[in-house]
Amino acid sequence: MTGAAGSTGRPVPALVDHTRTFWTSGGRGEFTMQRCVACERLVHPPALRCPHDHGELRYTALSGDGVVESWTVANHQFLPGFPPPYLIAFVTPVEDDRVRVLVNLVDVDPAEVSVGMPVVAVFDHRSADDDEVYVPQFTSRR
Ligand SMILES: [Zn+2]
Repeated sequence: MTGAAGSTGRPVPALVDHTRTFWTSGGRGEFTMQRCVACERLVHPPALRCPHDHGELRYTALSGDGVVESWTVANHQFLPGFPPPYLIAFVTPVEDDRVRVLVNLVDVDPAEVSVGMPVVAVFDHRSADDDEVYVPQFTSRR
């Protein structure tokens, strides 16, 4: 159910066949992304075919390690469940520096964020109706 308010008041992403693994693998402690069988690029957001060459995509478990590409601090509340201030960042997984994932940085002091900062995936468990999702977020790799 798109945008449904979950148990934490935060929206719960819609689960469809090609997005389900991305949103649920955190329940196993795994950060997964799709990889193209033809060009081997990681693809995000989840897609039906590779946006570069229309190759077949298969999910692969990654290390969960990444680096901050850019970030901003949200000082106004736009959605329920996200009290300001909070951090929004583009993170690049260490397995492929050609792709970026838009995420929240959690348990990080905004004054300590920098470009290239090592981060690691953690998961925000949200549920609504019958859907259990684990939204990837990142925190400082200490
Ligand atoms: Zn491809």
